[in-house]
Amino acid sequence: MRKLFRFLKPYKWQALIVVVLTTVQTLSQLYLPTLMADIVNKGVVGQDIALIIQTGLIMLGFTLIVTVSTIVGRLFATRTAVGFARDLRRDIFAKVESYSLREFDKIGTASLVTRSTNDVTQIQNVLVMILSMLLAAPIMAIGGIVMALRTDAGLTWLVGAAIGVMVIVILVIALRVLPLFKSIQKKIDRVNLVLREGLTGIRVIRAFNKNKYETKRFDGANKDLTNTSIAAYRWMGVLMPTIMMLFSVSMVAVVWFGGLRVGAGQTNVGDLMAFQQYVMQVMFAIVMSTMLFVMLPRASASAERVNEILDMDISIVDKTDIIPETTCKGCVEFKDVSFSYFGAQEPAIKGISLTAKPGEVTAIIGGTGSGKSTLVKLIPRFYDVTKGQVLVDGVDVKDFPQLALRERIGYVPQKINLMSGTIAKNVRYGKEDASDEQVREALQTAQASEFVDELLDGIESAVAQGGTNYSGGQKQRLCIARALVRKPEVYIFDDSFSALDFKTDAKLRRAMKGEMKDATVFIVAQRVSTVMNAERIIVLDDGKVVGQGKHKELLKTCTTYKEIVKSQLSLEEMA
Ligand code: ADP
Ligand code: MG
Repeated sequence: MRKLFRFLKPYKWQALIVVVLTTVQTLSQLYLPTLMADIVNKGVVGQDIALIIQTGLIMLGFTLIVTVSTIVGRLFATRTAVGFARDLRRDIFAKVESYSLREFDKIGTASLVTRSTNDVTQIQNVLVMILSMLLAAPIMAIGGIVMALRTDAGLTWLVGAAIGVMVIVILVIALRVLPLFKSIQKKIDRVNLVLREGLTGIRVIRAFNKNKYETKRFDGANKDLTNTSIAAYRWMGVLMPTIMMLFSVSMVAVVWFGGLRVGAGQTNVGDLMAFQQYVMQVMFAIVMSTMLFVMLPRASASAERVNEILDMDISIVDKTDIIPETTCKGCVEFKDVSFSYFGAQEPAIKGISLTAKPGEVTAIIGGTGSGKSTLVKLIPRFYDVTKGQVLVDGVDVKDFPQLALRERIGYVPQKINLMSGTIAKNVRYGKEDASDEQVREALQTAQASEFVDELLDGIESAVAQGGTNYSGGQKQRLCIARALVRKPEVYIFDDSFSALDFKTDAKLRRAMKGEMKDATVFIVAQRVSTVMNAERIIVLDDGKVVGQGKHKELLKTCTTYKEIVKSQLSLEEMA
């Protein structure tokens, strides 16, 4: 929590105003019962109407001060907390955007969402309370005790007893509630995770009739959260009436024992009334602090989770801003590269060595899970290698600024990802300043023109979130156009032709051939027909290279390749 206070810096004056105002408010409140005692003791008993009116007006004045300072104080407290939360969310988002994929794998997307929304709100709420109570509560408690004892020292024991019982009750309950509040935050994470999966995977869930299963899974997470919340708030529910009861019992005790003292002439009615109000103020201050202490651990759990995001060591950072001297434009080289994902026991790829040069197509083929996507993800340095070296343009990718490195690469991910907006906007993701002409050209090469031109708004046609208003093959072609428009040195197509029919696939590759004469091309594919003509085919199995060469050579030397081919082509085609 303390670490986050740096976010309060821009609001330090507002926060100071809040503290000053609540202090003014509290002190005024402390003064009011004394004035009332005056009215009763001197005005009423002494039949002094002028004094009653005069003191009454002063009381009215102080009440006004209390009201105004409360309202303005609250306003500034809210503004401070809300501004604080906005800055915090902004910094969280900026930080997360600089994460490498490894950090995403570590925390998980669902938790990132909860942390930047719900957790920030928790902190914001507590901040309002801290600002308006942190100083007010102690002033009111201590001031109230002092004033009470000043009005009638004879009842000291009563004040002590009331406070003592109250503190014990609160402590007993707080100790039970705190751990529960801490675990609530984790359970919200779980609900978010299941909810996200249920919403994004809705098509799969329908197709496999898993509605019931998913509903049950959600119910499980939801009930778990509910039960913990109920357990926590049950204690809070006990707390409030208990405190109210203590309040009432104390008041009765004050009147009882105070009345005896009035009867014995040891004090008078006005002082007794003031005393009663002071005791109430003290108890109220204690209740306020309790609420703060109950909410504080929950917020500090949230703060911890937020800090984890902000303090995360980013595994991929730029060593320099200087673009290094390159020796071999467009070359990509792997030198004995191994890589393991975060938390994985086995490396996803091991001991990979290969060289790709401009004008060449390097195809990567292999069963699912053999590490094809992993291999190509290392070229734009989405992850850092565990062992070995990846070189682009003859330079270790770690020696490039990330921007400069990725500028050289046109990457089409296996998992299609389009942004909501228009087609043109999505293509321009590849090159911000691309002209309409360049956008059209890229779409043309990607064989997307045939359907884009038919759309009513052409390249300005809308793209829904995730591109759901286009078919799989259409989306793939838009993603390809997005990479093409960059005209990069290195192209990476991760299984980008799988949703295309054979005819479009062939047409697309013919069109691209002209486009990519001088580029280095990586094609990850499932179909032998897609990779057959590549200059180099790399056969992956279980993260290892089991064959490397041209189609014809591999047919003779590599059994894994032969099996893949056999499963797809007729014998004549093989030859
Ligand atoms: P392919 O593209 O050949 O189908 P991948 O490269 O996607 O295979 O995956 C290779 C292996 O790495 C698989 O065993 C997969 O389970 C694992 N893997 C892929 N992505 C991740 C990830 N983000 N975290 C942990 N393991 C992963
Ligand atoms: Mg893959």
